[in-house]
Amino acid sequence: MSIKKEILYYSKDVKPASLVAVSKTKPVSDLMEAYEAGQRHFGENKIQEMTEKWETMPKDIHWHMIGHTQRNKVKYMAPYVHLIHSIDSPRLLKEVNKQAVKNDRVINCLLQIHIAEESTKFGFDHQESLDYLATDDFKNLEHIQIKGLMGMATFTNDEVQVDREFANLKSLFDLIKKEQLLDERHHFTELSMGMTGDYKIALKNGSTMVRIGSAIFGARNY
Ligand SMILES: *Cc1c(COP(=O)(O)O)cnc(C)c1O
Repeated sequence: MSIKKEILYYSKDVKPASLVAVSKTKPVSDLMEAYEAGQRHFGENKIQEMTEKWETMPKDIHWHMIGHTQRNKVKYMAPYVHLIHSIDSPRLLKEVNKQAVKNDRVINCLLQIHIAEESTKFGFDHQESLDYLATDDFKNLEHIQIKGLMGMATFTNDEVQVDREFANLKSLFDLIKKEQLLDERHHFTELSMGMTGDYKIALKNGSTMVRIGSAIFGARNY
């Protein structure tokens, strides 16, 4: 079954999830093959690489930043980025807002939540994210929209653990919606979780957006 059909199949009880094709390290020719097949959403984890691809590729592509981002590089993607999945600190969000103002646009963002056991992964803790959304510092950022949450599960074969981590993220997502911690203008609807190794478990837990690389483009050589 193709990845697209599988995503439809595994999310059949909910709104079908969308597919972000993660093309980091892959040449433009590989991306163009996916583009010709109809793919319009691509994910990259380095701003410079994404910007080079954006410059050369068709302009109807939606570019997703999914990797840890240095604040001094935000300005390069601010004119065109479609969705930043990896907002992992208040300082980063503040910089995104500043660059959005300069470009006279609103930039869509997801808060990255730390759900894995590995301490090396980035993101807000549950409570930290709730506290932050209540601050005036956050509420004054008028050029960003928080469209939802993103999380990465622990890299493990233990499916029970991965399932638990995704379920935790879903419950935080539901809590933020239920308590209306974000006002309407944010359109808080997206839950970005699931990669090649765990997207079926993510879809079962209510993912609305999966980020898939190697299952589409093959293994990466670094
Ligand atoms: C690389 C990457 C992916 C895709 O990983 P695959 O295992 O190749 O599907 C998804 N999300 C993030 C944040 C990544 O860095």
